Amino acid sequence: MNEIEKSLNPIIKLEHTYTSLPNHLFTKQMPAHVPSPKLIVLNTKLAQTLGMDVTRLQSDAGTQFFSGNGPFEEPPIAQAYAGHQFGYFTKLGDGRALLLGEYITPHGEKYDVQLKGSGRTPYSRGGDGKAALGPMLREYIISEAMDALGIPTTRSLAVVTTGEMIQREVPLEGAILTRIAKSHIRVGTFQYVAKWGTINDLKALADYTLERLFNPCPNQSNPYLYLLEQVVKRQASLIAIWQLVGFIHGVMNTDNMTISGETIDYGPCAFMDIYDPKTVFSSIDREGRYAYGQQPIMAGWDLARFAETLLPLLHSDAKESVKIAQETLNGFKQQYDTFWIEGMCAKLGLQETQDDDLDLIQSLLHLMETYKADYTNTFRLLTLGQQASLDFSQAEDFKTWETKWQNRLNAQAVSKENIQKLMMTHNPVVIPRNHKVEEALAAATNHHNYKIMNELLKALRSPYDYTGAYAEDLLVVKQTSCGYKTFCGT
Ligand code: AMP
Ligand code: MG
Repeated sequence: MNEIEKSLNPIIKLEHTYTSLPNHLFTKQMPAHVPSPKLIVLNTKLAQTLGMDVTRLQSDAGTQFFSGNGPFEEPPIAQAYAGHQFGYFTKLGDGRALLLGEYITPHGEKYDVQLKGSGRTPYSRGGDGKAALGPMLREYIISEAMDALGIPTTRSLAVVTTGEMIQREVPLEGAILTRIAKSHIRVGTFQYVAKWGTINDLKALADYTLERLFNPCPNQSNPYLYLLEQVVKRQASLIAIWQLVGFIHGVMNTDNMTISGETIDYGPCAFMDIYDPKTVFSSIDREGRYAYGQQPIMAGWDLARFAETLLPLLHSDAKESVKIAQETLNGFKQQYDTFWIEGMCAKLGLQETQDDDLDLIQSLLHLMETYKADYTNTFRLLTLGQQASLDFSQAEDFKTWETKWQNRLNAQAVSKENIQKLMMTHNPVVIPRNHKVEEALAAATNHHNYKIMNELLKALRSPYDYTGAYAEDLLVVKQTSCGYKTFCGT
C-alpha cells in the first residue's frame, strides 16, 4: 500500500449500524482534539486475533486514531442509556466514551470499537469527559487478566496518553483506552428506551440486539422471551465464574450490566484475597451493596430491571407478561446455582456433582472464612496436594474436612493425575493481586516505567500455568491488601 492509499484507508475499517436505531438513542460527537498523543500500550495479540493491521496500529497514524484525533470516516457516537446507580434511577449515557463504530473480523464477527476518555458529550453532566492514565491502565490490566481466566469481558486494545493534564484531586496525566466489546448495549440502554422512548423504539432496540447478539433466534413466535432467557442465562454463567475466581466488580449498577454477558467497566473492581463474603473494596460502596457475597443477588435485581423493560413486548396481556417475566427470572437462581456448584466441584477435582457436594463445598468456605485464608492460594495448594502448607492444616475441623474430601475423591473412578488436571484448569495460580496492580500502576504513572506492568501482564496471560516460575509477590497476599480501597476511575 503506498502513502496515498494508506491515507485513504482507515486504520480500522468500521461499520455504523447503531445509527440505524432511533435518533434519540445516540448523539453524533467528535472526540476532543488532544495535543500530543503517545502510545503507551498496544494489545498486539488481540489486534492479531481480530485480524487488524498491527504495523499500522503501531504507527503514528494508529496513535492519532487511538487518541481520537482521527481521521474518522463517520462521526463517532455517544450512546444514550440510563441506569439504577446504587438503587437510584438516573439518566446517563456515554459521558466520557465514544463509539467509533463496529469492526468486522475476517471471520465475520462484529465488535464495537470505543474510545474511553475522549472528551465531553451531551451526556457528560458535570464531568470533563476525560480519563486519567492510572484507571485506564487498570482497566487494561484487569480486563486482560479476566479474558485469560476465561471470563467473558470487554477487551482493551490500546492505551494512549493525550499530552494534557486533567484536573482531579491532583492534576493527572490524561489518557484514552480503546475498548473492544461484542456490544456496549446495557440493561441501562433498555431502561432508557423503556422510560423515554415509544414501544416502537423499544422494539427496534430489542430487534437490533437480537440480530447482533442472539442470532439465530430459535423462538420466532416470541423472540423477546428468548432475549430475556438468554440474557438471564449469560449473566447466571458470568456471575458464577466471577464468584469462582473471587472477582468483585464493585459497581454492579444496571448501566454496568451488558446484554452480551461480558464483564464491563473496570472501575473499583478487585480480586478477593482473604475469603470473606462481606468483602468490599470500593470506597463508595459503604453499605456493601455490591460485596462479594451479594453479587448473585444484585445480578438478579439488575435482571429484574431488564425484564421490566421488556414487559410490553413479552405478551399483549400485561398480566401474562409479568407472569412470563417472573418465571424466567426465577430461573436465574437455579441456573446460577448449577453453574456455581459445577464450577466448585471442578475446583475440588470432582468430575460430577452429587447431592452432598454442596455441604463439602460450604464447609471448606466456612473454614476459609474462620481461618482468614487466602481464597486463590487455598485452592492452589489443594491442587498441588500441598495442603500441609495451609496455615490451618493442623486444625481438627480442617483434618475432618480433608478426610471427607479425600474419601469423596477416592470414590471417583478417576486417576489422581486426571483429578489434578481438572483442578489445574479451574484454580488459577496467578490473579491480579491488589498490591501488585498498585505497584505496576505507581511505576507507570509516577515514573513512566512500564516494566512491572508488562511483567505482570505476561504472568496474567497464563493464569493456569502451574509450571511457571513466579515471583513470590505474585502469589502471596501482602498485608497492605487488608483494608485495600479502590476508586471509580473518574
Ligand atoms: P462509570 O462509573 O464509569 O460506570 O460511569 C457512570 C456514568 O458517569 C456514565 O454515564 C459515564 O459516562 C459518566 N462519567 C464517568 N466519568 C466521567 C467523566 N470524567 N466525565 C463525564 N462523564 C463521566
Ligand atoms: Mg459504566
